[in-house]
Amino acid sequence: MCLSPHWCVFCNLDGESVNHMFIHCPYSIKVWWLLLREAEAVWVTPKGCFQLLSSNFAALGKGKKTKVLWGCVVQAIFWNLWMESNRRIFEDYKGVGVDELWDRVKLWAALWASVINVFKDLTASSIGRDLRAAVK
Ligand SMILES: [Zn+2]
Repeated sequence: MCLSPHWCVFCNLDGESVNHMFIHCPYSIKVWWLLLREAEAVWVTPKGCFQLLSSNFAALGKGKKTKVLWGCVVQAIFWNLWMESNRRIFEDYKGVGVDELWDRVKLWAALWASVINVFKDLTASSIGRDLRAAVK
């Protein structure tokens, strides 16, 4: 449990700021790296959340499916980092490793994408199993 508002609950190294918590923290950046690995992409780490959310990420491809899935994955990363942070602060909870958090991200992203019309032919599990294949 981390009670200091000046410590990041993930790394205990830096002051908690939005950009640190969601992008630059050593824990959080590994989640983004897992996305990049899955997308077989590289990027220059954005300076902050505004730049990240403003970026036109085309590594998964182009088109409506890619735009929808990218949005779902990005939102799922933010959502799961936020939930993980809150659980570590407010519950008797040690936290999970980056790989397990990434599994949760894919689960949520796939679930959200599966109810959007462009993915009506795919199940959530098939989307989550292979993000790149889901947008082809
Ligand atoms: Zn941190």
